[in-house]
Amino acid sequence: MPQTTSPETEPLRVSAIMQTGLLTCMPETPVVEAAARMTERRFSAILVLEGQCAVGIWTERDSLRLALEHPEEIELPIHRVMTPVPLQVAEDCPVAEVSDAFKAHGIRHAVIVDGEGKVRGIVSQTDLALKQGIEPYLRLREVRRVMRSPVEILDGQRTLQEIAGHMLEQRLDAVIVDCGQGELGILTERDVLRYVARHRRDLPVCELASRPLRSLPVEARLIDARHQFIDQRLRHLAVVDAAGEVVGLLGFRDILDGVEGDYAVRLREVLQERDHALERSRLTLQLAERVIDASLQSIMITDARGRIDFINPAFTHLTGYTLDEVSGRTPALLSSGRHDAAFYAEMWHTLQERGSWRGEIWNRRKSGQLYLELLTITAIYDEHGQATHYAALFSDITHIRENEEKVRRLAYYDPLTQLPNRRLLEDRLSLAIRHSHRQRKRLAVVFVDLDHFKQINDSMGHAAGDALLVEVAKRMQDALREDDTLARLGGDEFIVLLPELGEIEAARQVAERLIDSISTSFRVGEHDFRIGCSLGISLYPDDADSVELLIQYADAAMYRAKQEGRNTYRFFHRQQLQWCEPAQLTLESALRDTADSGEGLAVHYQPLINRDSGELEGAEALLRWHHPVLGDISPGQFIPVAERSGLMIVLGDWVMEQAARQLAAWRDEGRQAIRVAINLSGRQFWDRALIDKVRDCHRRYALMPGQLGFEITESVLLDQQQPAAAIIQALRDMGCRVALDDFGTGYSSLGYLHELPVSTIKIDQRFIQGLGNRRSNAIVAAVTGLARELDMRVVAEGVETDQQLQALARYPIDLVQGFLFDTPLLADAFAERWLT
Ligand code: C2E
Ligand code: CA
Ligand code: CA
Repeated sequence: MPQTTSPETEPLRVSAIMQTGLLTCMPETPVVEAAARMTERRFSAILVLEGQCAVGIWTERDSLRLALEHPEEIELPIHRVMTPVPLQVAEDCPVAEVSDAFKAHGIRHAVIVDGEGKVRGIVSQTDLALKQGIEPYLRLREVRRVMRSPVEILDGQRTLQEIAGHMLEQRLDAVIVDCGQGELGILTERDVLRYVARHRRDLPVCELASRPLRSLPVEARLIDARHQFIDQRLRHLAVVDAAGEVVGLLGFRDILDGVEGDYAVRLREVLQERDHALERSRLTLQLAERVIDASLQSIMITDARGRIDFINPAFTHLTGYTLDEVSGRTPALLSSGRHDAAFYAEMWHTLQERGSWRGEIWNRRKSGQLYLELLTITAIYDEHGQATHYAALFSDITHIRENEEKVRRLAYYDPLTQLPNRRLLEDRLSLAIRHSHRQRKRLAVVFVDLDHFKQINDSMGHAAGDALLVEVAKRMQDALREDDTLARLGGDEFIVLLPELGEIEAARQVAERLIDSISTSFRVGEHDFRIGCSLGISLYPDDADSVELLIQYADAAMYRAKQEGRNTYRFFHRQQLQWCEPAQLTLESALRDTADSGEGLAVHYQPLINRDSGELEGAEALLRWHHPVLGDISPGQFIPVAERSGLMIVLGDWVMEQAARQLAAWRDEGRQAIRVAINLSGRQFWDRALIDKVRDCHRRYALMPGQLGFEITESVLLDQQQPAAAIIQALRDMGCRVALDDFGTGYSSLGYLHELPVSTIKIDQRFIQGLGNRRSNAIVAAVTGLARELDMRVVAEGVETDQQLQALARYPIDLVQGFLFDTPLLADAFAERWLT
């Protein structure tokens, strides 16, 4: 690594700090002479050389070992008492290594030699400590923290020999001695050496001890101690308290020991901190790893060039590839071949521009099977803003797409005959009307109703009835042109759309062909039988120019055909309107009177039950109308009239007001708080004031947030996705639940479900009633599956029997509603039964 050659980090070499002014002697030099030279020059050690090479060292400390009672000891040649050179190091040896060696071997000196083993200098522990930038530490540290304490004060009358033995044994390099009359002195290794140099007999130590005793206060800083040591060339100081009592002894070495000790503590702290930080980040990493490992999303990380670095188990599970197989390769190995180069170029472009890309992409498993994935790629940048990695997260959404496809078919097609249903027919009819308008052409709507189908169904069973319907559909289809649309409205009712009709005569021919195709006998099981049908025909633009009216008029004409003999057809005639429109008008004007006064209107409440716990979850508010003359009129009849005539907003507001007032009343009676769902028709939902009304209602009656909820049908949302999502979101933001009502009864695109923030899906009652037959089961399975995928609650409505409830057990359903639990009830009856 380049740093090691940079001057700042060049390690300090021992040659830089060694002492070169060496005190040396020969191996034959007498001890006394060596000691004299050391004392004179105040050196703590003398190096014994043979030629140019160091063979030993003799130090102040060694002087303690001399047997001082034998004067001849000090006449011995020094090689007899020296310590063989303990450590020789090269000049370029780093100081840190020498320091380590001192510690490891418990020694205080090392000899520095050059390449030929020639002595260049000597380095002591003191030299090391002094060169290591310790001033800041010394400045802060108090003497009391490092001094040796307590100190023994020895009797000055004891002999030097005794005291030296004591020092050696106790590993002391200095002692304090009492010299009589309260006067203290200090005796150090150096004093012993001096004695060896000058005197030759044993004597009481008080004669040898240095006096007066040099001292410093206990609260002094180490830096002061060091100044004294250096200025006065001392090795020891007594430490005294405020009263002048000796409380400790401080040696030059102690300062340095303290440094080392303290450095070690700091170092340990720093290491511990680093270990903790490492541990923490290791845990974070482990956590991240576990999350990645456990993630159901497949995760793949590539380097900047797109080579795969990492994958998680979900990746292997989904694609079939292991890390070994993909490592170093590019994600192109998953490519399905379904997207062109431009697609991938665009993806990379977006990734480069925005740092991320999200979309759907077809890929291929190891097994070759194709799958659709929802993919998010994110670039990961370094501190310079360069992308270093790309992380891809994806999941297999093939089954969601399949479910959507299934539900879409449900929405558009009749499950029994696979013919288009009413919704699709209406779509096609409205398209055809526009087309005919532009082309100035005629079109016909033929309403077909089988004669006596009910009897066959009842006598031969539903299975036979179903088989018959399938066969009828097939025969009619065969009698039509490719451009014609045959749709099943339900039961035994069909509609044929004949676009681009030339002459009215053509419609007549088709009608006859249809009657023929149906009147030839059918074989169902063992039985042959015949069946007839009645047809009614309406024409665009002759009779009407709207989808609704064309169907309504064809229906009316069919009714006439039935009345006038069956197994025939009738064209719609104007005069049929005579008994059609007045009824409509009567209803509308009656409704107008009612809407103003509220008379005859009532809100009923039907419970919604938690399927698994059996507990009450809330209620649906349903509007009832009783007219003094017309009698009970079902919402199915009057709501469409109210919607068309502009009365719906008034009625709807009335229902919301009633429900809110009722909830407040129940609360004031101390009853259990529940949520109530209100049905919103198209006009109400698109009413600009809706959100304010809802907020206002909650406020005026002090309801809990979201205590009122809403139900809307798919048709309300038709073709207006974007604002619909915003309105639903605004309701949800207030805490209100929003359910999609009558789900599965027909809507052109289900892709929108992803986009709509609805909380609940209510499966239409027709599917609940159909449970048990394979088709209905498949439908309920698909809808509940899709709902679960999208994290929505599911309500099964119209549950009437125990069998239906049992049949529902297999599906993930949250709530149930229907006559099995209760019919819609007036508020008081509801409270009595459910809120006590
Ligand atoms: P919906 O919202 O689907 O309401 C459920 C309908 O199913 C109700 O009919 C209810 O009485 C009926 N029902 C409940 N349980 C069962 C059962 O087990 N079996 C069967 N066969 N039917 C059951 P209802 O009250 O006649 O309402 C018909 C439709 O009128 C409602 O359908 C809703 O779309 C509309 N509607 C009712 N009240 C209001 C209202 O206040 N405002 C608006 N905009 N529409 C309303
Ligand atoms: Ca409803
Ligand atoms: Ca419903």
